[in-house]
Amino acid sequence: MNDKIFGNHQLLSTMEAMAESGRTAHSLILYGEKGSGRRTIAGYYAQLLMCGNKVNGKPCGVCPSCRTIADGVNPDVVYPQRSGKLGGYSVETVAGVASDAYVKPNNSSGVKVYIFTDCDNFDIRPQNKLLKLIEEPPDYAFFIFTVRSKSAFLATIISRCVCFGVSLCTEDEAKEALAARDIPAADIGSAVNCFHGNIGRCLEYLSDEGLRRRVDLTKSLADSIIRRDEYSLNSVIFPASRERSDGIEVLSMLDLLVRDAAVLSKDNAAPAIGCCREAAQRLSEQITAYQAIRMHMHIERARRAIDSNVNMPLVFAALCADIMDT
Ligand SMILES: [Zn+2]
Repeated sequence: MNDKIFGNHQLLSTMEAMAESGRTAHSLILYGEKGSGRRTIAGYYAQLLMCGNKVNGKPCGVCPSCRTIADGVNPDVVYPQRSGKLGGYSVETVAGVASDAYVKPNNSSGVKVYIFTDCDNFDIRPQNKLLKLIEEPPDYAFFIFTVRSKSAFLATIISRCVCFGVSLCTEDEAKEALAARDIPAADIGSAVNCFHGNIGRCLEYLSDEGLRRRVDLTKSLADSIIRRDEYSLNSVIFPASRERSDGIEVLSMLDLLVRDAAVLSKDNAAPAIGCCREAAQRLSEQITAYQAIRMHMHIERARRAIDSNVNMPLVFAALCADIMDT
């Protein structure tokens, strides 16, 4: 059987209705946070296109098509490879997909599906190449793109795609999803405390020691800010400056925590979205909402500096000084 998909009921039934009516979109953009289930939902759409035994409009989950799609091994559901430092799709990759897409499928469903995951760094040249393909796709070819924000795509691409936002689950749904994987209750509690309704991130937290370390580092940063200890802030943040992706992740988590502090300073019963409600609560007692907004602006600026390849230890040293100044 398929893994149950939690949340996003409306989106799934819209897709089912499309399949039922035979008006399936050839190009889809699924946008939403990483970990929100975009890829799983892309697979569900592929199952809707390929399953020959649908039950009440849903994929059966047990036929060879459904099973191979769920296991990521269906030869007609292709995941093009990302490449380069930023993990984008090259012109060559898109050209390869284009020529493959004109070869008819060799399966009973008569369908081929291309799933481009994490399209956050899709350059303009390959996008233009892609545009030609999705403007006039072969009848049997379908293209699904997962991305954080639609704005990563050219307007001309967006106008040719059906765009669906993928939402996070509720915390209760996330707990249910983790319990269905036989994860112990204490682990479920700590994962959901950090990543709330983002099931993908909760699972990553439980399986990836590096992510747990970065969460702890973010909490220590919050502690240093609360104590207004610039020396400790500098030494805690330093390990995050070694890897670009780690640095960006820590900044994003710190940003959410600061955002929580701003909200909690106005309403201390508000729900948190960051990785540590307790630290955000303590921070909210130390700073005003205005200071929190200024900290957010400093963090944003540091992120942009990292994006434009400024030396990371330098970016972080400047950020620490700016935070202490707010
Ligand atoms: Zn099936």
